[in-house]
Amino acid sequence: MDITRSVNRSSGSEGLYFSADSLLQAAFLAGNNPVFLVEMGTRRILACAGTAAQVFGYQPDDLVGRDTRVLHVDDAAYEEFGRASEAILTDKSDSYHGYARMRRRDGTVFPSEHLVRVIRDDQGRPHAAVSIVRDLTHAASRPADGLSPLQGEAGFHALRDRLPGAVYQRVQTPDGTNRFTFLAGSLFRDHGLDPDKVRADPEEFYGRIVPPDREVLEAELARGQASLAPVECEVRMRTPAGQQVSLRILSQPSALDDGSIAWDGFALDVTAERNAEEQFHHLATHDALTGLHNRAQFLQDLQRAVDNAGRHGERLAVVTIGVQAMMQINAIHGLWRGDELLRRVGDRLAQCVPVGDAVARGHGDVFFAVLALVGDQDAGHALDRLIHAFDEPFQLDDGSVIAVSARIGLAAYPEDAEDAAGLLNASTIAFDRSRHGSEVCYEFYAEELGRHLRERMGRERALAEAIDAGELIPYYQPQVSLADDSLVGLEALVRWRRADGTLVSPADFIPLAEESGLIFRIDIAVMKAVVAQIAAWQDAGYEVPAVAVNCSARQFRDAGLVEVYREAIENSGIDPSSLVIEITESSLLDDFQAAETTMTALTGLGIRLSIDDFGTGFSSLNYVARLPFHALKIDRSFIAGLGTDSRQSAISELLVHMGATLGLNVIAEGVEEEAQAAHLRQLGCPAAQGFLYARPLPADAVSTWLSRTAAS
Ligand code: C2E
Ligand code: MG
Ligand code: MG
Repeated sequence: MDITRSVNRSSGSEGLYFSADSLLQAAFLAGNNPVFLVEMGTRRILACAGTAAQVFGYQPDDLVGRDTRVLHVDDAAYEEFGRASEAILTDKSDSYHGYARMRRRDGTVFPSEHLVRVIRDDQGRPHAAVSIVRDLTHAASRPADGLSPLQGEAGFHALRDRLPGAVYQRVQTPDGTNRFTFLAGSLFRDHGLDPDKVRADPEEFYGRIVPPDREVLEAELARGQASLAPVECEVRMRTPAGQQVSLRILSQPSALDDGSIAWDGFALDVTAERNAEEQFHHLATHDALTGLHNRAQFLQDLQRAVDNAGRHGERLAVVTIGVQAMMQINAIHGLWRGDELLRRVGDRLAQCVPVGDAVARGHGDVFFAVLALVGDQDAGHALDRLIHAFDEPFQLDDGSVIAVSARIGLAAYPEDAEDAAGLLNASTIAFDRSRHGSEVCYEFYAEELGRHLRERMGRERALAEAIDAGELIPYYQPQVSLADDSLVGLEALVRWRRADGTLVSPADFIPLAEESGLIFRIDIAVMKAVVAQIAAWQDAGYEVPAVAVNCSARQFRDAGLVEVYREAIENSGIDPSSLVIEITESSLLDDFQAAETTMTALTGLGIRLSIDDFGTGFSSLNYVARLPFHALKIDRSFIAGLGTDSRQSAISELLVHMGATLGLNVIAEGVEEEAQAAHLRQLGCPAAQGFLYARPLPADAVSTWLSRTAAS
């Protein structure tokens, strides 16, 4: 229904939006009382309904377009009423109740009661007022309280042509047939339905109500029929043009003598109100500048996150982020650019947090975020992303580039507070400290946590810098044949050789690298160094056995892995069979299908695969048998107990036989003593690796092993 059009026809002003809903509802509730729609300011009558014309002694059309002055006793009374009723605009109540003496067309004066309600447009500006006048001349004219159905065609008369919506009487006979005995209003025409067809077959209308709403309506109607109480219901209807409109239906049942039920009612298009409500809801929950949630909504998001984390025993970080020197930026670049910058900051922060976590704008230059701290990774990681969000300057539409820094305050759930408000407060306190405190750009509510995270982030950064500086290099540990101690392979094991020459073992940095994702870069750096080393050894005339590199579970799941290897091999020109990738059992557990695909692609390149630390994971024989492995490495823990611990000896024996049965090359890891080697030899294990033969060696020390091989 086009509310704007139907009301504008009488108001003559463009673009007004009135709630026809409240006008009709008022008319309904007021029963036979006059109802006026009056334009704000001019006090012109835009529409009238009910018995407005009769009570004042006019023809229905006479009043529309006229000043309400004609209804008042004299000018003074008119002015006085205007002052009193318009006061509601300033006191924000939007409704006025009062008494006044009014004048009929024939000059007679009568006492009356007034109820005035302001109608605002979608910008919140007052445009009109609905005014219900109750004639107090006869006490009997007071309407009954509550809903009173409009009776008979005469009661509908004023509503019929002027007011939008549908007014109807529908009769349902005891045999269940349904027909409209009266149907007026522009609703159906407005939505492309033929009123005559609807009149003939109510299903023309009811059949367009979306099914779940229709169910609700039917249930309401059944209830109304049983109790003869009025029914009020909102339903969505699909128009022939495919649009969905919201209708409010109010209907009063009454029982007729023949057992039929007559429903007097009307249907109103409330689509515009619903849309306005949605828009209002959006405005109430979102920040207008950035489109992010606002502070009020963030508190709700946060409380939900807290409830959820509480149920699953998880931790959260609540972060307050303030853009530094926003005032200066506004002063130098102008407010427009300042606003655009804040929008960009909001966008970038939203990109930093994973789906499911929330970012909001608090006020001015302050943003909030809540981050889930998953598993054993802690706030350092998430926080790091947020801090680094400000590394790159922000580019604005007009090409200007603005670099900004931020201050960050952080609180943790459940340590610092147990509810949303407490957490936000704690993170704000930490933020204040960061703003006024030292040079560090972030601060934690709990100092202890802060120290821990700072230390961790420091280590992460140092490791990242070491990778950049090429301080992570492979050492090589020989693998020998148990039959004759000849070299059969090498395993590349990463070492961090600091600038001062000290060596850091992988146990000290691999866990951190895995948590932070730096392991990708490490594995690729090591692999490339190994490929280059193989090529260098070959160029120098050495006969190089297969060299194994380790591949972390995370890297193994990375989609780009195969490509990286293909490129490295092609660029170096080495024989791909001189490369072996060691994969631990845990890499296979997550997604067998994906693992199989990756492994097939790698073997397709000519690379061979070996399963590392075998026996420590949970892989079934089935896994190993079905995947294209070439070698199996028995974990050091079983070798340590060889000959002394009967259980471990038995397992080692089993693993050696299993490998042989599956046609895999078996390598025993961590062989430190000759007795262990003798035992393995007895079991028929073909190869071994361990301190008994050699520790992991720098590349130049390996050449002696290689030349010895070449010589033998
Ligand atoms: P791993 O792949 O099982 O490597 C064998 C580990 O056992 C190496 O420790 C090696 O030095 C050690 N080892 C060899 N023989 C003996 C022995 O006789 N006795 C004892 N006690 N230990 C022996 P390392 O070099 O400290 O490496 C530890 C783990 O770190 C490796 O276990 C591997 O899982 C990981 N790692 C090493 N380099 C890399 C790498 O470049 N990338 C990835 N993703 N992981 C790596
Ligand atoms: Mg290994
Ligand atoms: Mg191993």
